[in-house]
Amino acid sequence: MKKVLITGAAGFLGSHLCDRFIHDGYHVIGMDNLITGDLKNIEHLFKLPQFEFYNHDVTKFVHVPGELDYILHFASPASPIDYLKIPIQTLKVGSLGTHNLLGLAKEKKARIIIASTSEVYGDPLVHPQTEDYYGNVNTIGPRGVYDEAKRFQESITMAYNSYHNVETRIVRIFNTYGPRMRLNDGRVVPAFIGQALRGEDLTVFGDGSQTRSFCYVDDLVEGIYRLLFSDYVYPVNIGNPSEITIAEFAEEIIKLTGTDQKVIYKPLPVNDPLQRQPDITKAKEVLDWKPIIGRAEGMKRTLEYFKSLSEEELYKSEHKDFSSYS
Ligand code: UDP
Repeated sequence: MKKVLITGAAGFLGSHLCDRFIHDGYHVIGMDNLITGDLKNIEHLFKLPQFEFYNHDVTKFVHVPGELDYILHFASPASPIDYLKIPIQTLKVGSLGTHNLLGLAKEKKARIIIASTSEVYGDPLVHPQTEDYYGNVNTIGPRGVYDEAKRFQESITMAYNSYHNVETRIVRIFNTYGPRMRLNDGRVVPAFIGQALRGEDLTVFGDGSQTRSFCYVDDLVEGIYRLLFSDYVYPVNIGNPSEITIAEFAEEIIKLTGTDQKVIYKPLPVNDPLQRQPDITKAKEVLDWKPIIGRAEGMKRTLEYFKSLSEEELYKSEHKDFSSYS
């Protein structure tokens, strides 16, 4: 049985990746320090003999006994609110954490895929974003801690590939949504759905003309899977090119939830990118991949998930205590 290490296993994407690899017959070691992850996302796996969980912070030396075939590095705070609250941990997991996992990949002769992000393009001056666009990032802005950690992560990954011949892959993930997103992490999908379900007005930041392109999590997982098993070492965008303004998106959520909530406008956060849309030509060429689940179907499934949460969870304000992390 092939063995795979998934960091960030208790998070939104990590937990879906654990499910996929378990489903496909792998032995999965899930690793997470539970800063932003939640064991609830993987508790259904604990009874399986082919699943193990290590509560560990990957910015510290990472030890896994025995052989390892693949590493998926998905540990990182990933929402603007989170990385504003834990900026240093965000920098460390992208830099020190990635260094540790690349070292582990070298030692075990394992192939490693690292989770990069459309944030490496910053507030992009090229639209849609192709992989050869270098980006427009404010290093010292509020998003700088995430964006620069991810940019460093790509550099050190390529260096391990060329200098140590480690088999590496880099996926640039665009906005993704689906079940198990954290209700109060500040990201727009859970924010709007949570507000609609609680009967609150939907908060659009700025004038709502900024755009995003939302990819359903199952499509993303399939893209990551194909990239890991491909021969392609350079970064590949994975996302859904269907672009929408945030104001239109708020209207879609109001319609979907059948509520009669209003939209209220709040100030646009600093360095909030004005537009974002992946160019997925490369993914189509190299991986024969494109998303197949549209927003209507994906949002319906996501809404079902949020509706299944208890009243207590729906009304709970942010439950994460970040005070002990630096
Ligand atoms: N946004 C919004 N209202 C909210 C939360 C977010 O209008 O309650 C906006 C946010 O300013 C951004 C977009 O929605 O323009 C997507 O935000 P998110 O945090 O989901 O992701 P990112 O900005 O990293 O793409």
